[in-house]
Amino acid sequence: MKTAGDTRSILDALESQHPGADTELHYRNAFELLVATILSAQSTDRRVNLVTPALFKRYPDAGALAKATPGRLEPQIHSTGFFRAKSKALVAMARALVRNHGGNVPADMDALTALPGVGRKTANVVLGHALGIPGLPVDRHVLRVANRIGIAGSDDPVVVERQLTSALPPERWTRASDTLILHGRRICRPKPLCDECAVQHECEYFQRGGVAEPVTRPHRKARRVAPQTP
Ligand code: SF4
Repeated sequence: MKTAGDTRSILDALESQHPGADTELHYRNAFELLVATILSAQSTDRRVNLVTPALFKRYPDAGALAKATPGRLEPQIHSTGFFRAKSKALVAMARALVRNHGGNVPADMDALTALPGVGRKTANVVLGHALGIPGLPVDRHVLRVANRIGIAGSDDPVVVERQLTSALPPERWTRASDTLILHGRRICRPKPLCDECAVQHECEYFQRGGVAEPVTRPHRKARRVAPQTP
């Protein structure tokens, strides 16, 4: 795996290739970003941005959303996919915000991940973009790109988050995630456009001729097998 210094200079190069990388979700406050990020699971930011203006008009805050029922919400978010599960999660999340946080979005990882439908990636998106607290969301693009380049070495998002945050100063975390996501969408796609990549010469995947490195998994104890009797 790359050193912390290498990781920083690779991110410098990628940030030059994708200046101003930022979340593509539209939002005006932490509540709206939390809702939009939950809706973005298994969907695209573009699709989410099509439904959120009307949704935020009808439910401008946690108090309004807490009074909704999942059934009333479903038609409004139908096009983002998994609309039944998302409707339930959104209403439960809003009710928990009202019950436990006075309707406000808490600026705290543990409190955020305790909310229904909110995982570590969603919490990091909200913390980093809307609450001014460094967070490095690891999605499938960050996982793929970071592992290919060699600035991370795991298929576990929590481990990759730890590897990247330990190599970068906190003020770079959110921009680093946004940059890796954009690089994964535009250049380092599942079928990568390596000729257009700013870090081709540093990339371990490219140096191996486009062969993925097997990721390290935790060792499991070998299962004892009883000897076969003849
Ligand atoms: S060289 Fe290719 S595989 Fe490596 S980061 Fe760039 S696009 Fe991805």
